[in-house]
Amino acid sequence: RRLTRADLDALPSYVPGRNPADLARELGLAEAIKLASNEVPYGPLPGVPEAIADAATNVHRYPDMGVLALREALAARLSVGIERIATGCGSVALCEHLLKAATVPGDEVVFSWRSFEAYPIIAATAGVKAVTVPNDAGHGHDLEAMAAAVTDKTRVVIVCNPNNPTGTSVRRAELERFLDRVGTDVLVLLDEAYREFVTDAEVPDGLVEFGDRPNVVVVRTFSKAWGLAGLRAGYLVAHPDVADAVRKVVTPFSTNAVVQAAALAALKAQDEMERRAAQVIAERTRLTEEVRKLFPGVPDSQSNFVWLPLGERALAFGKHCESRGVIVRPFPGDGVRVTVGTPEENDTFLKVAAEAV
Ligand code: PMP
Repeated sequence: RRLTRADLDALPSYVPGRNPADLARELGLAEAIKLASNEVPYGPLPGVPEAIADAATNVHRYPDMGVLALREALAARLSVGIERIATGCGSVALCEHLLKAATVPGDEVVFSWRSFEAYPIIAATAGVKAVTVPNDAGHGHDLEAMAAAVTDKTRVVIVCNPNNPTGTSVRRAELERFLDRVGTDVLVLLDEAYREFVTDAEVPDGLVEFGDRPNVVVVRTFSKAWGLAGLRAGYLVAHPDVADAVRKVVTPFSTNAVVQAAALAALKAQDEMERRAAQVIAERTRLTEEVRKLFPGVPDSQSNFVWLPLGERALAFGKHCESRGVIVRPFPGDGVRVTVGTPEENDTFLKVAAEAV
């Protein structure tokens, strides 16, 4: 008799970006560039390495299980009560915990596709049915169709705003209409992993504008603009009852002591985070303009990456870039996601991309 679940055999594993040092060695280059995982290229924020070193002296002790200092700092920054906040091992873990907290096997979760590649995986591992709604012609969410896909079995709808990997975003009025239409019996998970890069005033801050609805859950991360991808720190803001349920399903101590200290230090460097995000945003504008000269149909991005809708050419383009020492993220048959890097990295990418045209 097999010892593990048979349905996991067919489940794809999460694919991380390639390690640039390995690629450089393979190609015999001094260095390779990684524009594949939506990281910010400037290193940790000031104060973070010191906070990590400091926390390291005490790692023989368990961390604060309640994550109080960090949740208090987040509560103050976001102007919400601490009881509404849960933290976890990256925001992807919180998405998974929310499914665990809200569903039983056989329930449904609705999300747009293509979107964040972890959604189908966490739906399957939670034992819920993924109901996917195709992206619209502009590569973004079709909220009308998503609302229409909600059934009696739907417990969660995920709205990824801005959407990974297409960078598109939903506007205030359409999100409001959507929330009104789905009502309050279904949880709406607003995944705002890229919130800090949003500049379009029409794109709502889900927490400020809709966070008071009892069924709205906002998930954000320290991995992107806050520069802590390697540590795994995410947070969720929800109605106190929902946050409480999520905290119950989180693996104990999963926001570890080093993470708590580093995330607190990062929050203290908010001005520098914003300065860096502004650099990324300026480069996003430039990169978008330049890639549009090479490829048709590149959508506007409100995140720290751009989407090249290359269809059947996506994989070959990704391989070409990799052969020239630039790691991007192809989604075979669909498109290629390119993370905004430093100006020099973006220049290198644009040169390599032009060769492929
Ligand atoms: N949500 C979205 C939309 C993402 O793109 C990502 C990372 N790629 C995550 C969540 C997860 O980020 P993390 O677990 O590092 O917080």
